[in-house]
Amino acid sequence: MQLNDCHYAEVSFEKPRQIAARILKRRDEGEGWVEDLFDQELQRAGAGLAAADRGLAQELVFGVVRRQSTLDWLIARKTQGRAQRPMLQILLRLGLYQMFWLDRIPDHAAVHEAVDLAKAFGFGPQAGFVNAVLRGCLRERAVLERELEALKTTSPALGYAHPEWLCERWARRWGPEQLRALLEWNNEPPSTFARVNTLKTTPEKLAAQFDVEGVLFNPRQYDWVPENGIFELRSHPSLAALPSFQQGLFYVQDPSTLLAVRELNAQPGETILDLCAAPGGKTTFIAQTTENRASILAHDADPSRGKLIRENCERLGVTCVRPVATPAAAGLCDRILVDAPCSNTGVLRRRVDLRWRMQPAELERLRALQLKLLASMAGQLKPGGTLVYSTCSLEPEENNGVVAAFLASQPEYRLEAERQLLPISDRVDGAYVARMLRAFV
Ligand code: SAM
Repeated sequence: MQLNDCHYAEVSFEKPRQIAARILKRRDEGEGWVEDLFDQELQRAGAGLAAADRGLAQELVFGVVRRQSTLDWLIARKTQGRAQRPMLQILLRLGLYQMFWLDRIPDHAAVHEAVDLAKAFGFGPQAGFVNAVLRGCLRERAVLERELEALKTTSPALGYAHPEWLCERWARRWGPEQLRALLEWNNEPPSTFARVNTLKTTPEKLAAQFDVEGVLFNPRQYDWVPENGIFELRSHPSLAALPSFQQGLFYVQDPSTLLAVRELNAQPGETILDLCAAPGGKTTFIAQTTENRASILAHDADPSRGKLIRENCERLGVTCVRPVATPAAAGLCDRILVDAPCSNTGVLRRRVDLRWRMQPAELERLRALQLKLLASMAGQLKPGGTLVYSTCSLEPEENNGVVAAFLASQPEYRLEAERQLLPISDRVDGAYVARMLRAFV
């Protein structure tokens, strides 16, 4: 099973589990995305929560959400499929996740803590039931582990805790082995990457500062990323508290997100429109690749997210970006980036809750929006200009499907290049990028 629980044996077992249970309860009650709830609760816990406790709370919350349907299968198996009260289901999931997926937490601690949590959350009378289910699973551990392993082949959706419809769709496209590799990838905690902000530092200087700050990292090379342009962080103190972060020496983003900017190939002096810009990961990288010497107009339909673009530009020393309330305010542009809202199926390992919320019908709604956004840009690009369309989706209808429909209705445009990055082959988040050229007429 998975081994990502180092250091947990010596931490206090109380606080992180209580926090985790509360977050999972709030999620269950529909209070928001688990990532947001986690941030809120951790902020509330403040500096009083040791780094190891924070790590355990995070592993428990995200691990339980990732493995939810598999955990529920285990619970159903031991309770004859009877529906449980929501909080008891959460406590059983938490206990079983520790027992079956976290090797270094002693079983007795997982059971004992689940029983205590039941009492703390007002389920004292049911504490014996929680104890019995968890101990029953422990007694049958070897059999259950074999069954869990078999599920990965007989029913990958259950074995890897993904929605059935998504697995069917991916299996049709890639076959069973690639499907399993992708599901495996989605269940791993994601890597954190720091893009070196060469507006303020060099890879060498940032590396030296990381050494001082206790950040362990490896430079990573990708054919679409400038040399030494990105570091994979192996372990680090809280990023927001690092001087290197506060000084804007890096931006946290996956390597896959840099491909669209490479394809845009913006040049100093040009006018660039970034149509879906927030929080500004690509906007600020465009500024970096043009050494702050292009005119970048940043638009986003969600005005509340404009603040994020401003904050990121300020921190990173980006001075060539101007927010625009409407895309039309940008006027005619040399290059346009449409980094469209999408299903995010290429980033499921980062968005742990998403798999349980996605619906197949969403794809059609998104496809229509993506096409509309692209089409709305067709007249705003100068002849000879470059239009880049990108998503972090793996679904053809949101990617080359949208581009093909756009090109079919826009005879002035032609496709110059397109590329799909796949977690299973490229070992980065999924991303699709198409570069189109508007002809001179
Ligand atoms: N480019 C951003 C980056 O690299 O940091 C990420 C953009 S995110 C994939 C998609 C963005 O599109 C969201 O910020 C969302 O608010 C925005 N959006 C959604 N609908 C939009 C629309 N109709 N027009 C413009 N932006 C839209």
